[in-house]
Amino acid sequence: MSQDLNPVIWPMSARRVNGEITIGYISVSDLADEFETPAFILDELDFKARASLWAKALQEAFGTNAGTAYYAAKSFISTQVARWIEQAGLGLDVCTDGELAVAIAANFPAKKIELHGNNKSESEIAAAIDYGVGVIVIDSLQEIDRVARIAHEKSVTQGVLLRLNPGVDADTHEAISTGHEDVKFGFSIASGAAWDAILSVKKHDSLELRGLHAHIGSQIFTPDSFELSASRLISVLAKYRDEFGAELAELDLGGGYAIAYIEGDKPIPAQEILSVIATRVKSECEKVRLKIPRISIEPGRVIVGPSMVTIYRVGTTKEVTLEDGSTRWYVSVDGGMSDNIRPALYEAQYSISLANRSSSAPLRKSRVVGKHCETGDIIIRDVQLPSDITPGDLLAVPATGAYGRSMASNYNHMARPPVICVLNGRARSIIRRETHRDLLALEIEEEPRQIGKGEAK
Ligand SMILES: *Cc1c(COP(=O)(O)O)cnc(C)c1O
Repeated sequence: MSQDLNPVIWPMSARRVNGEITIGYISVSDLADEFETPAFILDELDFKARASLWAKALQEAFGTNAGTAYYAAKSFISTQVARWIEQAGLGLDVCTDGELAVAIAANFPAKKIELHGNNKSESEIAAAIDYGVGVIVIDSLQEIDRVARIAHEKSVTQGVLLRLNPGVDADTHEAISTGHEDVKFGFSIASGAAWDAILSVKKHDSLELRGLHAHIGSQIFTPDSFELSASRLISVLAKYRDEFGAELAELDLGGGYAIAYIEGDKPIPAQEILSVIATRVKSECEKVRLKIPRISIEPGRVIVGPSMVTIYRVGTTKEVTLEDGSTRWYVSVDGGMSDNIRPALYEAQYSISLANRSSSAPLRKSRVVGKHCETGDIIIRDVQLPSDITPGDLLAVPATGAYGRSMASNYNHMARPPVICVLNGRARSIIRRETHRDLLALEIEEEPRQIGKGEAK
């Protein structure tokens, strides 16, 4: 175990002081005593700095052609986070009426909201139009008619983008790669579906086609997939100009920027990756003599991911003898796949550190597991940890801010952990820990009643 907290993986304020990890100048022991474990610890300054960094990097890379950096709410959202996002000058990308409800509760400016989703319900579309969201990103032919009809009924001209599939196979896990041909998202450029969608949108007076969108996946380390995607979208913009004599003003290149989870992960800094993409956008536009459109992006993970650390308490340890005679040391903590499903879902890898003290004990090949009734409930598959780790110790897993709490479940009727915001020695919950009362709150005892016209048998 590295005693150093690699600043690429850990939040800005993470330190080791007298052997113990502190975040926001509060020791993990004090946090665990006050808020119990497991808990997500959110470094407020780190989050705000990353949000501002991406908004600023977009401005710097594209200058007057910079559109909006929409924070992807699905990575982690709360009303507090939505207010920080607004203050940092970002927009918000929401995919469901639930995410929209948080945005509305936070009074998020409607014009800076983008509604996504490959199967938005009529009521979601209606709620978004009622709130006045700036753009709806349309994902299917049925949805074109649906949004057009609902906007027409409400006498609104709704700004829309079309989500295209650029046919780019981003180098990431299959489940989070979204831009190759065989996916549910978007209109394929290669097959001609994208063009059909453009023609279809143009038939509706209640829709204003602002431009095109693509999101090619998540946790992408290199700029080339983004560049290829941008260049394919620009070719569609050029075809549009050739056909209709007018230019579409907006291009939204989606999110997907990678973060570091383990030693050796080397994410490209915001300014660098956006400037590479900007250079390509400019050269592609020049080639086809197109004005550079307004460029938007949708970063999620890269803003909230590194700003949170999960702290767990060790409950048991166990030596298991393997078939080849070697042994494995299992360290069980008080959370698991209910607060971090990514290792089970994507074989995602994380780092982990003994957090409440340092140890000079020899290292031992360990596997850190949760408390769920599944063998796959693994947090870290293989890691060298001090051999004296014992019940009561605290372990900290960095970079859990994105798709951690937001994908958390109540599996095994576990209460979902809180999100504790830390800043300069002070801490507060922005999402409290669930209680058994919360878990039982959905249960009701109803009298059976007749449904439909079927007769009792
Ligand atoms: C998930 C998603 C994002 C954010 O992805 P990150 O990898 O978290 O940056 C952005 N846009 C769309 C359409 C998405 O589905």
